[in-house]
Amino acid sequence: MNIILFGPPGSGKGTQADKLVKNLNLYKVSTGDLLRNEINNKTSLGGKIKILIDKGNFVSDKIINDLIINIISNNKLSNHLIFDGYPRNINQAESLDSMLIKYKQKISCVLSLKVEKDIVLKRILGRQVCSKCGLVYNKFFNPSNKNNHKCEPHHLKIREDDTEETVMKRLLTYSKVTFPLINYYEKQDLVKEIDGNGKIDQIHEEISNIIKSLGT
Ligand SMILES: [Zn+2]
Repeated sequence: MNIILFGPPGSGKGTQADKLVKNLNLYKVSTGDLLRNEINNKTSLGGKIKILIDKGNFVSDKIINDLIINIISNNKLSNHLIFDGYPRNINQAESLDSMLIKYKQKISCVLSLKVEKDIVLKRILGRQVCSKCGLVYNKFFNPSNKNNHKCEPHHLKIREDDTEETVMKRLLTYSKVTFPLINYYEKQDLVKEIDGNGKIDQIHEEISNIIKSLGT
């Protein structure tokens, strides 16, 4: 089975993808990870990608598709894929469909995480990472205290790009460019909505039940 996890920034789709990888023996396909791997492995493509990113330019759909086809054409991973943050636009979705057809695979379902906007904002803007031990807390939902964290509070830092301005920008791009993909997949009758407002384990259970009901 191949699954697409869909949702705005702060919807927790990365966390859910990681849990599914662990519990269902799926392979996570994240374009961020694929791009970082190329750069870290110093491939010739990685060199090109690094120049683009360093200049602040977007990585083209062509490069992304070249990375994705490496995964889809890999027999060992066939029908065990969970896509996290890809496809990001209609162009990529159409390419994905034709790559899957070529390698005799298909998407089993598109899980769309629905999260209220003020929860998304609190999840992102409240995020605090400890610069000493690396643990991640949230000012609103999971504050650091003496019982759950041994470091001094001044080690807690907010990520540079977790400002209200950049979050609003990311949400706007999502609603303009990525959200229309829901229609694309609804036409294929693949979309299942998930209530993403609750706790991580609760959401994971809801997702697992849907996947079980697919019966593959
Ligand atoms: Zn710490």
